[in-house]
Amino acid sequence: MEEKQKSEGKLLEEKLFDKRKCGWGESSEEKIQLIMKFADEYMYFLNKSKIEREVSNFTKEVLDKNGFKNIDNIEKVSVGDKIYYINREKSVYAAIIGKSGLENGLNIVGAHMDSPRLDLKPNPVYEDSGFVYFNTQYYGGIKKYQWTTIPLAIHGVIVKTNGEKITLNIGEEENDPIFTITDLLPHLASEQMKKTLSNGIEGEDLDLLIGSFPYKDESVSEKVKLNILKILNDKYAITEKDFLSAEIELVPAFKARSLGFDSSMVAAYGQDDKVCCYSALRALIDMNEIPDKTSVLILSDKEEIGSMGNTGMESQVFDNFIAELLTKSGINRPNLLNKVFCISNMLSADVGSAYDPLYASVSDRKNVSYAGYGVSLNKYTGSKGKSGSSDAGAEFVAKIRNLFESKGILYQIDELGKVDAGGGGTIAYILADKGVDVIDCGVAVLSMHAPYEVTSKYDIYSAYEAYKAFFEEMK
Ligand code: MN
Ligand code: MN
Repeated sequence: MEEKQKSEGKLLEEKLFDKRKCGWGESSEEKIQLIMKFADEYMYFLNKSKIEREVSNFTKEVLDKNGFKNIDNIEKVSVGDKIYYINREKSVYAAIIGKSGLENGLNIVGAHMDSPRLDLKPNPVYEDSGFVYFNTQYYGGIKKYQWTTIPLAIHGVIVKTNGEKITLNIGEEENDPIFTITDLLPHLASEQMKKTLSNGIEGEDLDLLIGSFPYKDESVSEKVKLNILKILNDKYAITEKDFLSAEIELVPAFKARSLGFDSSMVAAYGQDDKVCCYSALRALIDMNEIPDKTSVLILSDKEEIGSMGNTGMESQVFDNFIAELLTKSGINRPNLLNKVFCISNMLSADVGSAYDPLYASVSDRKNVSYAGYGVSLNKYTGSKGKSGSSDAGAEFVAKIRNLFESKGILYQIDELGKVDAGGGGTIAYILADKGVDVIDCGVAVLSMHAPYEVTSKYDIYSAYEAYKAFFEEMK
């Protein structure tokens, strides 16, 4: 049958309109297979890496396997060298020295490994009415009511005064116990139900139930607490005081799973921003050739609480890593580090908010990312009139567009919510402060910061393709 001739207006429309496309519809069977396989590997990573130290350890293992060397163990840096530095088990910087040398600037992809969660307070253990609890302080922007009545796992470290480090990971294996935070039964919740979502559950009530079995000795006052501390002492040789020097995080005990009858999505904890950590790491190690410009991967910590501290992006440790690369290349001189930053490019690899039809009113439908429509870029973030934002320049955005379009990578450029609906930030401004050209580029997420976040497998793969193209070909 002869195809109906397109009208003049139809042709003009195709030429002039910017019409976004769903990635799945554009994909061949082979491509869909690649996307599904990549998502399986990503979910394996997620199940191994729920907190920043675990992401850091996973990443170190992958870098070691792929020929990367610790910068402390090398004297001289040359073209093609693969080098990393791991900062206190909580942030990672890795580089492949490009053919044109460090002086020609860097192509940086930077993500963050920390995710919203509950942290233990320094003095966490208490007993009340036959129950023992861990008292917590929340970390990052959470909706508190989402963290009650779900299975939680305990991850982190306890460091004793002699320096011995005990690593905890309890609640992930089938036979492990899990922990939970209780909520009030509806029958007695009439007062609670009148409260707003933000104060229905008080932060001080986010306490983890960890035991109820008493130590059998009538002369002891807190029998359940004693029994719990005895169990911990038998297993880890710690006392209550050792919690003073610990970093213990409570995270959902859920496994990462495929979502939907069509398995087109991933549901998992901590996809903000582990989805970008994983796709950026894979982009770095999957490069077949030495790139022209030096590729740099940043996996940072503390983004969710403002990037402060010596493992956050605000610290000078990253600058020091690049300065050491310059020194060990034998080219360092005053002012060179600043100059290198000023001619560098960066994709700030962080998640964006996907359009949720159930909550349509917060988005401007022309300026929001759609799940499954490709990697999502934010030209700016911030709130209340771009306040606090690094706004990517038009020239830089044009270069990124050209790169993605020439490689056939589906992308969308959006903002977080409609005007005055709220806002947020990433690490983009920190590198922009150094003079780097930066744009936010990551995966759009549903239910961001919730215990179970949702992404499209198409977008995960599309982020991987985008980071890889950027490392390989960005000028
Ligand atoms: Mn993030
Ligand atoms: Mn976040």
